[in-house]
Amino acid sequence: MEKRPFDQLGVSAEILKAVAKMGFEEASPIQTAVIPVALTGRDIVGQSSTGSGKTAAFAIPAIERVEPARRVVQVLILCPTRELAVQVAEETGKLALFKKGVREVPIYGGQSYDRQFRALEAGVQIVIGTPGRVMDHMDRGTLRLDALKLVVLDEADRMLDMGFRDDIEKILSAVPEQRQLLFFSATMPRAIQELIGRYSRDPAWLKIEAQAQNAPQVEQVYFEVDRRSKLEALARLIDVHDFRYGIIFCSTKIMVDDLDEHLHSRGYAVDRLHGDLSQAQRTRVMEKFRERKFEFLIATDVAARGLDVDDLEVVFNFDLPNDAEDYTHRIGRTGRAGRSGRAFTFVSGQEIYKLQSMIRWAKLRIRRERLPSLDEVEEARANVFFERIRATLEAKQFKPHDRMIDRLLDQGYASTDICSALIHLLQGGPTTPAVVAPAKVERVASPPPGNAAVPGRSPIPAAGDGRAPRGTPADGEEETTPSAPSSERAPGKPKYDRPARTGREAGMTTLFFNVGRKQLVTPADIVGKIAGVTRLPADVVGAIDIHQRHTLVDVAESAAEVVLAKLAGIKLKGVAIAPARAGDETS
Ligand code: ADP
Ligand code: MG
Repeated sequence: MEKRPFDQLGVSAEILKAVAKMGFEEASPIQTAVIPVALTGRDIVGQSSTGSGKTAAFAIPAIERVEPARRVVQVLILCPTRELAVQVAEETGKLALFKKGVREVPIYGGQSYDRQFRALEAGVQIVIGTPGRVMDHMDRGTLRLDALKLVVLDEADRMLDMGFRDDIEKILSAVPEQRQLLFFSATMPRAIQELIGRYSRDPAWLKIEAQAQNAPQVEQVYFEVDRRSKLEALARLIDVHDFRYGIIFCSTKIMVDDLDEHLHSRGYAVDRLHGDLSQAQRTRVMEKFRERKFEFLIATDVAARGLDVDDLEVVFNFDLPNDAEDYTHRIGRTGRAGRSGRAFTFVSGQEIYKLQSMIRWAKLRIRRERLPSLDEVEEARANVFFERIRATLEAKQFKPHDRMIDRLLDQGYASTDICSALIHLLQGGPTTPAVVAPAKVERVASPPPGNAAVPGRSPIPAAGDGRAPRGTPADGEEETTPSAPSSERAPGKPKYDRPARTGREAGMTTLFFNVGRKQLVTPADIVGKIAGVTRLPADVVGAIDIHQRHTLVDVAESAAEVVLAKLAGIKLKGVAIAPARAGDETS
């Protein structure tokens, strides 16, 4: 099934700009098929599966046909439901963003007529509505269709199922003879074919068949995940399966960048690939990935196309692919050469319908599973950790630390206790930040202490690994709300709306320190300084969030005044500290 870049479809510069802004890297097959033909003015009957991008397929030619200077209705798009009308209007608005003077309005039952009158009077050119409400406006004389050039029937089969046949026929009989008609339907029952026969002239039939082959070696699973919990779900699956090599697909460049940043700050070794990177950058990333210099590649479909790797353990569809063909393409990168692979797909909310239709169309063999629970993740991490210790001992891959151990033994500690204490520290126990230096400072905005312990992915069964640094959140809401700090993000908000710093414990307060990454401050510096100067135990310090020029430090409320008083004026990395309660700081 052919796909082409948008700039080969004969669309205007304004549309090219808009699709780029929307993150569309190339036209989908139905768009590739429909747009050039629709631009010639010919009637079209388009048929393709849900989620294949039909909206832009008709909205782009619709926008192109509008003469902005004429403030009359020139395009009418009929949709079965108000939700769809609103959705189509939104997408049309985005696509028309750079077309000066082109305006669209959804009209549907349930919304006040007043607002709709005003919009219509103001001279919108594109009306998107349900057949019932469109008829109402025609009857009232508030919607004039005599300048209409283009009519679109979106989801025609559904409109007929919903009993709109009479309305549709009335509308189609009332519009000018010389108009173009674009007809979209997932199925072509007889009633639809009759409508087409009656109202369109020599239409081009453009049907996009889903014809994905299954990849039998690939175990395919999907998970229904709330949108904002996807990151947490991803981390759990990686940890439970101890995956070390895979691709994570996202639908847009923005999502790729976001996820890259979030996974980095959780300590995963990842890199990204998308169309905004230069060819040289892309080549370098692919090379590094082939050489396994990092574990997970986050990519868009298009960017990953040139990538030739065949021993992936897993492919994640962090975002659902656009169609079954992309799906097959993506998962075909694992399970090659007789090896077994896994494909994990996330669906959230309404996407389940899209996935189900892909499953039907392409006869995918994909089963549903529930996400591993926190306990399962802990257990898996513990097992992995155990195995690593054993392997390290077997292989004798460690430097002896006899002196330190002897000193501890001399002081009367039992060897089992010493080991337990070390594991506790590695797990991100309360005093961790004082003991370990953070890894990967330049890219990690502000690693939670538990995470900072180990470069790359922590193989440690850390209770707080990547989640609330102090203590494991109780089951329920909290559990699925990831807390990787995102306060240092460059422009653009994370897609999944996670609070930047969740889970500050009761009894903790946040202090502002006027030193940061610029001074190469580490969590250990902060905790060390606080503990050293105040003589308070290090565990009065909680989460530490290091920014470029300042640091946010959670401390026990009971210790806050002491810390504020004793640390004022003390030098840290050559800077006199002026601590303040966060929010009070003057600088
Ligand atoms: P359909 O009407 O065929 O079910 P939609 O038009 O609703 O599909 O599109 C499904 C999703 O795919 C939407 O979120 C849309 O923004 C997105 N989409 C459409 N075209 C593209 C494209 N060329 N590249 C990336 N995403 C696209
Ligand atoms: Mg649609």
